[in-house]
Amino acid sequence: MPPLLWRIEGASATPDRDGWQQGIALHLQFQPLTIIRIRRDGMIRRYLALEGCPHCRPDGCDHSCPRALFAQLVRTTLPGIMLAPVTRIVPHTSEIRRLAARPTHHAQPLDTAMLAPWEAGRLITTWSRLRAAPQPITVGVLLAVSADGPDPARVLQAVGWRRGALATALNRVAFQAEVPPPVRIGGRAGEALVAALGDPQLLIGPAIAEPLALPEASDAGAQISAGAVVATSLGEA
Ligand SMILES: [Zn+2]
Repeated sequence: MPPLLWRIEGASATPDRDGWQQGIALHLQFQPLTIIRIRRDGMIRRYLALEGCPHCRPDGCDHSCPRALFAQLVRTTLPGIMLAPVTRIVPHTSEIRRLAARPTHHAQPLDTAMLAPWEAGRLITTWSRLRAAPQPITVGVLLAVSADGPDPARVLQAVGWRRGALATALNRVAFQAEVPPPVRIGGRAGEALVAALGDPQLLIGPAIAEPLALPEASDAGAQISAGAVVATSLGEA
């Protein structure tokens, strides 16, 4: 069945960090975790997309339902956080610059601050670890932003993320889906990213976006001369 969506609400003053870290590591052995952050009208909203069991309902599920187990993890380790079921996220027509990216080894975590330079934006992050704990944790992102503000590829590059090739059709499907599918691009998560995954702030980060520090213009020119292209996806809008 397709992933189900939840809006992440509330705040947790006393997160159980150890419990969260253990739970999230266990969750990734069974299915990926997709977090969607959306900036509109100066507000940030966070969502979670998870696959459920074949009979998934908020009020009763299979014992091993990964969606129900994740909800239990949030209840027990992040008191104060609520997961509100939502049916869809309406694509924003102004989010016309789109790209997929994977981390380099020195990539910095991406949170809501990432979206601050644009009027409207959406950041979809999928964490995964295939089936067995010795596998590295991988992570990939899709970013869609409005036409104002800086080149999104340059902003990602400044914090260690590299634009990845992604089939145009996949890209379009992912951005137009009312329930975003998992990001199908990824790279091994380095130390800083694994630490970010284990931090409850991943779900409950600050609601006010701070501007991301960008390199000075003179540095940026050198950084993007290596072939980064303007990310406007005219053919996909
Ligand atoms: Zn279920």
